[in-house]
Amino acid sequence: MSTAGPIVALLPRDYDAVLFDLDGGYFARYSEQHGAIEVDQAAIDLVRSLRAQAIRTAVIATGNEFAAVQEAAGIAPLFDIYVDGSEIIRPELEGKPPLDALLEAARRLGVEPLRTVVVADTVGEVEAGHMGRFGLVIGIDRSGRSQALREAGADAVVTGLANIRVSLEPPSAWVLAYEDFDPAREGIRESLCALGNGYFETRGAAPWARADDIRYPGTYLAGGYNRLRTDIAGRVVENEDLVNFPNWLALEFRIADEDWFDERKVRILSHRQELDLRSGLLSRAIRFEDGKGRRSTLTERRLVSMVDMHLGAIELTLTAENWSARITVRTAIDGRVVNAGAKLYRKFNNQHLEPLTGEIVGEDGVCLEVRTSQSKLHVAQAARTQAFKGGKLVKTPRRTVREPGYIGQAFGMRLKPGETLVLEKLAMLHTSRDRAISQCALAARKAMARAGRFEAVLSDHVLAWMHLWRRFDIHMEPAGRDFGLNAPMMLRLNMFHLLQAVSPNSIDLDIGVPARGWTGEAYQGHIFWDELFIFPFLNFRMPEITRSLLMYRYRRLDEARAAAKSAGFQGAMFPWQSGSDGQEETQELNLNPRSQRWVPDNSYLQRHVGSAIAYNVWQYFQVTRDIEFLQFAGAELMLEIARFWASIASFSKEKGRYEIRGVMGPDEFHEGYPDAPTPGLDNNAYTNIMAVWVLRRALDVLRLLPDLRRLELMRELPLSAEETARWEDISRRMFVPFHGNGVISQFEGYEKLIELDWEDYRRRYGNIQRLDLILEAENDTANRYKLSKQADVLMLFYLFSAEELSDLFTHLGYPFEYETIPRNVTYYDRRSSHGSTLSRVVHAWVLARSNRPRAMTYFAEALQSDLSDIQQGTTAEGVHLGAMAGTVDLMQRVTTGVEVTSDVLRLNPQLPAELERLDLRIRYRGHTLDLHLTRDALTVHGREPGIAPIRLAFKDEVHDFPGGSTRVFDLGK
Ligand code: BGC
Repeated sequence: MSTAGPIVALLPRDYDAVLFDLDGGYFARYSEQHGAIEVDQAAIDLVRSLRAQAIRTAVIATGNEFAAVQEAAGIAPLFDIYVDGSEIIRPELEGKPPLDALLEAARRLGVEPLRTVVVADTVGEVEAGHMGRFGLVIGIDRSGRSQALREAGADAVVTGLANIRVSLEPPSAWVLAYEDFDPAREGIRESLCALGNGYFETRGAAPWARADDIRYPGTYLAGGYNRLRTDIAGRVVENEDLVNFPNWLALEFRIADEDWFDERKVRILSHRQELDLRSGLLSRAIRFEDGKGRRSTLTERRLVSMVDMHLGAIELTLTAENWSARITVRTAIDGRVVNAGAKLYRKFNNQHLEPLTGEIVGEDGVCLEVRTSQSKLHVAQAARTQAFKGGKLVKTPRRTVREPGYIGQAFGMRLKPGETLVLEKLAMLHTSRDRAISQCALAARKAMARAGRFEAVLSDHVLAWMHLWRRFDIHMEPAGRDFGLNAPMMLRLNMFHLLQAVSPNSIDLDIGVPARGWTGEAYQGHIFWDELFIFPFLNFRMPEITRSLLMYRYRRLDEARAAAKSAGFQGAMFPWQSGSDGQEETQELNLNPRSQRWVPDNSYLQRHVGSAIAYNVWQYFQVTRDIEFLQFAGAELMLEIARFWASIASFSKEKGRYEIRGVMGPDEFHEGYPDAPTPGLDNNAYTNIMAVWVLRRALDVLRLLPDLRRLELMRELPLSAEETARWEDISRRMFVPFHGNGVISQFEGYEKLIELDWEDYRRRYGNIQRLDLILEAENDTANRYKLSKQADVLMLFYLFSAEELSDLFTHLGYPFEYETIPRNVTYYDRRSSHGSTLSRVVHAWVLARSNRPRAMTYFAEALQSDLSDIQQGTTAEGVHLGAMAGTVDLMQRVTTGVEVTSDVLRLNPQLPAELERLDLRIRYRGHTLDLHLTRDALTVHGREPGIAPIRLAFKDEVHDFPGGSTRVFDLGK
């Protein structure tokens, strides 16, 4: 049997059964020619490997002949059941025999359709699988009908059973699990187990948790900010914070007259907490014994719905093992919360919420509405809590518990040994910013009244995640060693958090992508340049999200124009930290926890953030060719950012070149020259080269625009020919500092700084990631030394290929040899403390080809940034989304070499020794492309027949790739 064409890999975790709805000779057939029964070994192997993974199998066929052949071939026992399709016609589904047969097979196997795969070879059967909401429908096309099968609803079409594989992934590849209760690490786990849907997110704190020294329940709304002023260090500072909204989890219980349940007050017999990434489900199972020897089992399942973005749900069960007592339950929406989740901001005012109303709704519902004090954002949450015993709804009288900012209900009932109480709490969150509502409390109450049971909500949620994973997952088969880490799970955890911060639910929202997701209060939920590390991965998967995030910037273009103007420049100067309206949100002062001194924060001088935005617009356009976006918003963004660079650049007669003075590069340890009265550095190489790149691309954009739009924009901005001529001039004569031997100086004068005695600092402090704080506490300053917090010059090699850099340098009239790259990498690699998690991502990439072991070390560290809390204390205050997305993008880049230049999608694959196989799906200019990479070949399979061809380069050969076609590129050495 041939294996040409795409391969579908089934993950055992996803499915419980496979139904083969196939007529005739797939597994065995009678051969007239040989007068014997011939068995198809590849098909048999598939069934065997399914069974080896405990996946049940059924064949559905019509007529006895098929069964007889299987019997004669001796393969009948391979299948769990055989269903004769002709017998299954259920009257209630009259006219849909294929669907009846599939449902009947699933019923007989005792499996859920959603967790069942249908393999079928006719349009009718494929359609039935689709209609019946089966988990995956695979069409078999042996005669060129793949288009018809796809239109009928096939999720994948393959040419034969040999093209269906069972991927041998351990369950741990999808699960983040903790086997104990560890108070010291609870904060980290709360961040890592936060659940969100791109609209709101809630930390993974236990439902009974209140904010204390180890726990911090936090619920954040995407883009939900408020401003407060605080008197600090002799001045009034104003901060915009991501607000901690009322806690909808609040669900607690007590047995008899014991304390309210808390892990710290009982003896824990077993404890497991699990985040199932595949289905977005957080669960907990705790067996415990209280002071009176009462043993109980407590479980929790929780989700924040990916389908209904306003909905969060908890199911809590309590089983009495050896006791009989009355238990009391308290369920609430708790708005008595403040922002206390980030240590560094504890001295700032933190009371953002004003309680409005708290009401009981019907018998089992509560509704709380609050408002933020300054931004006047109303948030209403309505929650329904139902109790069940033995599957039956239990109605007991409830007592209202009411306080300002808190509304709850308490009720009780008796439990006997062996009895289980099930509590289901469904909470709806609406805000005054929602669309298609009248008023948020009304909307929340309506939604609560309509909400279904936990299981139903879960099933829709799982389906939504399944669909997301089909687009986003990178599936890797390790070649035995697997980096020594559970890399597949870690990468998925990273993608999971990315999709919880921004998802299809975010597309209609006015939000940016925050550095720490919506998982904690570090960096106050602000938006930095980190999207530079995040968008490449999104562009190739769901560019609709990138577009919406770029619109966040576009809507704040006027604010950036005003900022440029008030600083004496033209164009748009985007803020280093951005929040609600796009004004600069960088703190004025930061507390150094080592010295307890308030130190001015000059990082707002990182003007390079604008270049990151322009770069992101360009990359988005490269992947999508979305000319409408470019015309409507992208071009204006790029032109105004270019204009800013042209206006901040000044001509130095002495140098005969343009320069940019008084800024900071990405390395935040250098804020200025030692002993200089004002902060800022001159000619940061990264800033200058990025400015040149932006100016050149802005000129390209003008050429790309249709005449009408170009003329409109030139008049509206207005932009004159002289101005663009100056852009061209600057792009050729920008100054780039070098010091000795082709090393690009991080900024002008860098070479005059002194070397740090790294060994001495390592010996004295151990962890020296934050050398800036260490040195400040020693009454010294990082400004004096050749050291960096993170990649600065090296960012250039992260963002641009050697060819692109060579082109930039040549354009500038500077020499550029290939050796420039390794020389600079070695120089700066020695002088970095990696005080930002982004740094390791960049270093892993720039070392990927020259020093693999070192690159792998950086990659492994970057991958564990949050899982291992490598910065020792920051993860509990929020995950690091840039590093998370960066590592996934790195995996994609290193293995496939994917990049887009000159309208060509380029693939330059190289499977790392640690991998046997890698499968991923990307989108590019309307095409959905399945990429399968093995040691021998790269198969690219297009899923959209009939759309305009794209140009695809494998290594250096460029090919036309028609929609829906398949190409196999040989990687044989
Ligand atoms: C890094 C910045 C980054 C910010 C937010 C800082 O520590 O230096 O580059 O943008 O964190 O992630």
